[in-house]
Amino acid sequence: MLTATKTLSGLMGLCVGDALGVPVEFTSRAERVKSPVTTMLGYGTWNQPPGTWSDDSSLTFCLAESLCRGYSLDAIANSFWRWYKQAYWTARGDLFDIGQTTHAAIMRLKQGILPHQAGGKVENSNGNGSLMRILPMAYCHKIVTFNELIARVHDVSAITHAHARSQMACGIYISIAIALLEGANPQAAYLQGLEKIQSIYSEREYILEKPHFGRIFSGEIAKLPVEEINSGGYVIDTLESSLWCLLNSSSYSETVLKAINLGGDTDTTAAVVGGLAGIYYGVENIPQAWINQIARKQDIINLAERFAAAVYT
Ligand SMILES: [Mg+2]
Repeated sequence: MLTATKTLSGLMGLCVGDALGVPVEFTSRAERVKSPVTTMLGYGTWNQPPGTWSDDSSLTFCLAESLCRGYSLDAIANSFWRWYKQAYWTARGDLFDIGQTTHAAIMRLKQGILPHQAGGKVENSNGNGSLMRILPMAYCHKIVTFNELIARVHDVSAITHAHARSQMACGIYISIAIALLEGANPQAAYLQGLEKIQSIYSEREYILEKPHFGRIFSGEIAKLPVEEINSGGYVIDTLESSLWCLLNSSSYSETVLKAINLGGDTDTTAAVVGGLAGIYYGVENIPQAWINQIARKQDIINLAERFAAAVYT
């Protein structure tokens, strides 16, 4: 497979999921059961035209682009600041959605606080705001060792989300994404991803947090009934619901629509799982009609090419 196809599969998979979810963000599961999303809509919650992606994709593109020039936490933080200040990497020049914890961290960066110190550290700063933008880190799996990569994932999370729970959610997600990039199917990638990160999260600094990931580490998240799957903005809910959708679907479109029709934080759940589904099914299996509606499609394709050249050489 062309390496640019590999990077585009993840980036476009995430972005299309985000854009599908934006018009119905914050709607309830009951509403989605009554009126399920089946294709790309527009307007709704944020009154944006079809194909408009949000903060999830913007910050993902900022990270991917920054990684094109090598790994620098300062450069990544600076690109997040440019997004906030100059609407950099926004779909249509307008920043219409930002999480509280991300906003607070960007304000701290503005005051000159270093990226290492900027992120929210308290327990209630565990929204899904770093999980939704961490995917590009998986593509560095050929550049550094797994343990070094996970350390970097924790640091990149900590720019906005510095609590161990958010960092671990990102680490587990990236470990699974790497297994998918290496060719595993979703069920195998889920188990391999957990297996690979097990020793890191058995260390003392993470052990107290591990029970929060109990349903994920059981290896049986897919078997839970839908009533037990929460789809709000809490990072554990987003990781669980994303894996649940990935493991209970058999195409890209089924995966992301299932995520959106759980209701709640629709765009982020669909973005998080859309990245994984994009990697597994490939960009060629994302409905072309949806891709054609995506704002700045060509810019995203160009970014995927530059990113592939940087991480796969
Ligand atoms: Mg969003």
